[in-house]
Amino acid sequence: MEHASINSSINLSEHLTLSSEAALGHLSELNGSRLSPHFTLGELCKTSVNSLEGNIPGREEIENLKRLCPWLEELRYRYNQRYVCCEEENTEEPIIISSGFRSAEVNKCVGGAYSSNHLTGCAVDIRCVGIEQVLRYAVILMDYADETKQDYDELLIERNRHGRYWVHFAVRSKDNRRKTMFLMI
Ligand SMILES: [Zn+2]
Repeated sequence: MEHASINSSINLSEHLTLSSEAALGHLSELNGSRLSPHFTLGELCKTSVNSLEGNIPGREEIENLKRLCPWLEELRYRYNQRYVCCEEENTEEPIIISSGFRSAEVNKCVGGAYSSNHLTGCAVDIRCVGIEQVLRYAVILMDYADETKQDYDELLIERNRHGRYWVHFAVRSKDNRRKTMFLMI
């Protein structure tokens, strides 16, 4: 798979005229760009891996991340409506993305699957505080899929050996398989 490069998301000639400091500034500006009201590109690309090349999506990967945002917005809205007592906007609970787009290098470092949907920006891992929140998130996403007659590619409830839970959720541009599973990793 072709590796996403910085130049596919930043105008090449403009990028070449920037000093490295300015280029970094431009990059953080890019990270701050909002893909939907509550989600930024930076949130959907963050990683704890100290990657030499950076974890930078190309145009296609950004389009794939954007496709996930209506699902994440709906998840956020419905979760707060149903389970959080929020009379004021600032008491709403955010949806925390622990991993979204991963470059090949980052995916390898975190032990991601060879053909992971994270590589194309089609998947996010949504952090959960426990089994109840995992189940509530999963139900909201499945209900939304049914109501809007859309399919997702993967909805995986994952649990690691430390007892930490998250929802891996993926939507592709086509051929979504609606793979729904519980995984212990
Ligand atoms: Zn994942």
